[in-house]
Amino acid sequence: MTVAEALQHGAAVLAHLDNPRREARLLLAHTAALTLTDLLRDPAYPVDGARYQAALDRRAGHEPVALIAGCAEFWSLSFRVNRHTLLPRPDSETVVQAALDVCPAPARVLDLGTGTGCLLLAVLHERPAAWGLGVDLSPNAAALAHGNAASLGLAGRCAFVCGSWADSVAGHFDLVLSNPPYIRSGDLAGLAPDVRLFEPARALDGGADGLDAYRAILALLPRLLTPGGTAVLEVGYDQADAVAAMAGGGQIVPDLAGIGRAVVIRR
Ligand code: GLN
Repeated sequence: MTVAEALQHGAAVLAHLDNPRREARLLLAHTAALTLTDLLRDPAYPVDGARYQAALDRRAGHEPVALIAGCAEFWSLSFRVNRHTLLPRPDSETVVQAALDVCPAPARVLDLGTGTGCLLLAVLHERPAAWGLGVDLSPNAAALAHGNAASLGLAGRCAFVCGSWADSVAGHFDLVLSNPPYIRSGDLAGLAPDVRLFEPARALDGGADGLDAYRAILALLPRLLTPGGTAVLEVGYDQADAVAAMAGGGQIVPDLAGIGRAVVIRR
């Protein structure tokens, strides 16, 4: 099969998704080890259809491309991903940018619910003098984040532990990051199938009002932050005001869509 035939076939298999042709292109590039530019350059190039078909079948069942590929790009860095964590999302880059802006020279950084490690590792990548600790309830996530740190060349400046929020953490941090679960429990069933079927509910479910994790984290900040330290928390599309109020004041940072996506809290 040629590239052109493969893309046409893939777009037909994925016709029930939002952007079938783009999805087909991503999966073909991944399974044929070609770049998107390669695909455009030579529509007659021959490709092996078997791996591609397997990927199409998975995507047709709503499995996210990142899980099929086993990796996702975040902050222009590559992260391994798996079923044990939330997949890195562009929205969360707002948290990284806000953290870099408000806390330009952190010595010690803590990431609560680190998942793939993407928030912490993006900040460490930009701040070569910083050291970081990532915590996750899931041992599989902590191991995944450690692997990501190693492949990004950052393992010498961070550690990952398994635990509930900061139960296993002592000491003070200049910067605390978190993208905690913030979906209202009652809204989980209505999430897109890509999310609902393939990402862990534990990383999404924020309790009845979606704010349980913020209550837990805000209660810990006085113990965790150095005087003058800063926390940057990701929030859901309608939660920024509530979280800032719960914190007794906070700066709300919008994402690229103009939605309040991060709340900056200073001690
Ligand atoms: N942004 C994710 C979603 O809407 C939720 C992430 C989270 O709960 N931290 O699917």
